[in-house]
Amino acid sequence: MTDKERAYYTEHIRGLLSEDRFQHSVNVSHQAVKLAQIYGCDLHQAELAGLLHDVMKDAGKKEQLALMEKYGVRLSRIESNAPKLWHAMTGAVYVKHILAIEDEDVINAIRYHTTGRAGMSLLEKIIYIADCTSEERNYKGVERIRKLAVTDLNEVMAEALMDSLQKRLVDHTPMHPDTVEAYNEVILAKKQQA
Ligand code: FE
Ligand code: FE
Repeated sequence: MTDKERAYYTEHIRGLLSEDRFQHSVNVSHQAVKLAQIYGCDLHQAELAGLLHDVMKDAGKKEQLALMEKYGVRLSRIESNAPKLWHAMTGAVYVKHILAIEDEDVINAIRYHTTGRAGMSLLEKIIYIADCTSEERNYKGVERIRKLAVTDLNEVMAEALMDSLQKRLVDHTPMHPDTVEAYNEVILAKKQQA
């Protein structure tokens, strides 16, 4: 990313996000670049998607619903009942239609950074993992996940998806089918390797 692009997008999200969320976004972009270097992903895509992944996270429900309405995003029953998932969908719409970013891989990395999905690209996995291993994250077990993130991308995906689904069970909240499909895929791939 050129200095000019970085400054532009950084200022853009600074205007849309709380201070904490802004710092998180910057940290995710740094972590995404680090992972991209390790796994041979495009650094520009990683930095851009990392910086913008939560661009809609602090937007209100009304604003997000209006954006989805305008661009024809239909919510499933599970999605309607999980506003926390909306910012991934609206974030993808935002970067595509408002920021005029055309890179489908970057758009999809933002679109699926919360749920994951089956058949994730390298960039999508990197953003998913960068989001849960960024510098300021301090949940229980983060050190182990962080270590795994820099050694085995598929293994850390498996762990992160298991954590996510486990949380749904413990909290008695619905699982998004995309997360279940992502989990099934990595688990079957592991079995085949063994
Ligand atoms: Fe997010
Ligand atoms: Fe995030």
